[in-house]
Amino acid sequence: MIRFEDLLRPTPAGLYCPPGDFYIDPVRPVDRAVITHGHADHARAGHGVVLATPQTLAIMSERYGEEFSARREAVARGETVVANGVSISLAPAGHVLGSAQAVIRWKGVTIVVSGDYKRRRDPTCAAFEPVACNVFISEATFGLPVFTHPPDGEEIGRLVHSLTQFPERAHLVGAYALGKAQRVIRLLREAGWERPIYVHGALERLNRLYEREGVELGPILPATGLKSNALGGEVVIAPPSATQDRWARRFADPVLAFASGWMGVRARARQRGVELPLVLSDHADWPELIGTFAELRPEEIWITHGREEGLLRWCELNGQKARALRLVGYGEEEDEV
Ligand SMILES: [Zn+2]
Ligand SMILES: [Zn+2]
Repeated sequence: MIRFEDLLRPTPAGLYCPPGDFYIDPVRPVDRAVITHGHADHARAGHGVVLATPQTLAIMSERYGEEFSARREAVARGETVVANGVSISLAPAGHVLGSAQAVIRWKGVTIVVSGDYKRRRDPTCAAFEPVACNVFISEATFGLPVFTHPPDGEEIGRLVHSLTQFPERAHLVGAYALGKAQRVIRLLREAGWERPIYVHGALERLNRLYEREGVELGPILPATGLKSNALGGEVVIAPPSATQDRWARRFADPVLAFASGWMGVRARARQRGVELPLVLSDHADWPELIGTFAELRPEEIWITHGREEGLLRWCELNGQKARALRLVGYGEEEDEV
């Protein structure tokens, strides 16, 4: 049998597959890239050929323009493409619309590169699909037992409750443009919030893309050209940076909320002046991470970007072979557009 590193190995440009001659989520321009999802630290412009799900390709052209790569190859669910004898397929990762785990097979060995993933239900994307493998490569964004996220319904319930409690104040929710914003909107709709939701201009194109892909967002209005304090009791969603800058001054005394897994850390909420922290994460929390490891039981787990130590320790205690890859260039949350 081949050594796993013969099939996939960490390099400064990202994970590289020597026999297939392609990279996964490379952080530098390369000839051939497999992209797991559209967040900017994983999906960069300037590659030769990009292999990704049709949704991820659509997200990349929305963000970078049609010319984001010389050529693109859409890999639909259930489809397999072969590169120099290495087969590549994409299985849903449950992270954001179009997000996928790259499943790499060669000479009887399967390596799954999960990219970013979560295990709880997300009404805006396909659920994570466990794939049996020899090596599972996992992120570690929330890789400590202290990161146990509450149910989404509870968090959205606190937002809805605050709207009834403070009907004279606009509720300004910071949410990343790809994935988080649309998920907050869908969760609000599921919680029975039928009023128009106001959005910052930076969210409009991705919102439309989600709708084209079948994620219904309900009535959405631009949060521009309004008299100050016009949106008392309404929900306004904006990229987190906009909630901190001049743009936000149009709202008199808003309730500032922020939807992020990091809102479980009080100091982070306080630092940003967030009055209503909403713990909504697109990344697996500790129970989801170790639950996935226990479910898959691969021969080896390779851990990347985030907090590796706690997960390495858990693996050691549970007789699971594991190592840290220490890849660089990936953020702890999506960077903003
Ligand atoms: Zn991501
Ligand atoms: Zn990431």
